[in-house]
Amino acid sequence: MGPLGILGGGQLARMTLQAASRLGIEVWIAERFPDSPAARISSRSMVFERGWDDPQALDALAKLARVVTLENEFVDWRVLQGLEERGTRVRPSPTCVAVVQDKLLQKQALARAELPVPAFREVNGPADVVAAADELGWPLMLKARRDGYDGRGNALVHAADEAAAACRGLGWPDRALFVEAYVDFERELASLVVRGLDGEVVQYPVVETRQDPRLHICREVLVPASLSPKAAEQAAAISRSAVEAVGGAGAFGVELFLRPEGGVCINELAPRPHNSAHYSIEACWTSQFENHVRAVLGLPLGDAALRAPAAAMVNLLGSGSPPIDDASLCGALAEPRAYVHLYGKADNRAGRKMGHVTALGSSPDEALAAARAAAGRIRL
Ligand code: ATP
Ligand code: MG
Repeated sequence: MGPLGILGGGQLARMTLQAASRLGIEVWIAERFPDSPAARISSRSMVFERGWDDPQALDALAKLARVVTLENEFVDWRVLQGLEERGTRVRPSPTCVAVVQDKLLQKQALARAELPVPAFREVNGPADVVAAADELGWPLMLKARRDGYDGRGNALVHAADEAAAACRGLGWPDRALFVEAYVDFERELASLVVRGLDGEVVQYPVVETRQDPRLHICREVLVPASLSPKAAEQAAAISRSAVEAVGGAGAFGVELFLRPEGGVCINELAPRPHNSAHYSIEACWTSQFENHVRAVLGLPLGDAALRAPAAAMVNLLGSGSPPIDDASLCGALAEPRAYVHLYGKADNRAGRKMGHVTALGSSPDEALAAARAAAGRIRL
């Protein structure tokens, strides 16, 4: 079936590798530095120490892997195209990644498919931001088109006199930007869609994601999200259509806003397994990671339904203090029904995703209480 190559060696690659190895599929991890969380648990890894566009490293990976997938959207699509020219299939395709990795092209593609997205405008500098506010109103969400994560490529701009500093703060004029209307959402939702090579789609339940208001990082996930049947149906339908609109293959995280009046719109797509579906490892018949592997290799997809009434996941975020100690791990493991995941990251940087805890329950709140109890024991 394989060998499957994964570009990137973080926790998403690590959990994808774990799912693939259970199916006996050989995986090669490629990362720009040694000892990544995924490479740590594999004897088959290679280092692109000269960067992703190093022709020799690409030659080597193309020889080793029949199919290559990615664990983040930051590898330039031209590199992926280079792998295809060397005879390796890349899934999702380079043309799909070209659209998704540029948030403006992505929004344009979704808007062309008549899917609901916040109003947006391309901007080239502060004057354009102010002009956009005439139409879209203040505040505006200013975003870098590429390479944003954990909210780090975004800035909320409240008034004209903040526009110049906000643009420069995001790296303009060297970095391209766009603006979005600010969405006064009631809650944030997410949905994980897996699309096979033949267009078959399986969808995980719609979840509620709770972000840390200061760090702009996902803290907790509750599943299923408490939604009216109409909102749940709309969320699922637009998620599926969004992945189809960009020609996706494999797992796609679809981040959504629930508006106060009950409508749902799309924030963004991630062309890979997503933090908001880590709960699926224990709570669904087939995890997002296994379904991702199955999809990109052309294998039959598995059931994405919950096998418990509800589940919750709590992220373990770094604090900057020394790495997780044995005592706190023991404390967390003393919670009898919590599933503790640690990603094996040595550097416990503040806000870094170090692990997560999942719990099942008869309701999302019950599961959340159990997951929080275990997560709260881990000193980070
Ligand atoms: P992540 O890596 O966490 O997915 P990111 O850096 O790609 O994030 P976005 O998903 O664009 O960034 O935005 C991060 C968060 O900022 C969103 O989850 C949401 O809370 C808020 N946000 C983004 N766009 C808007 C908007 N148009 N209106 C209101 N809030 C927004
Ligand atoms: Mg996001």
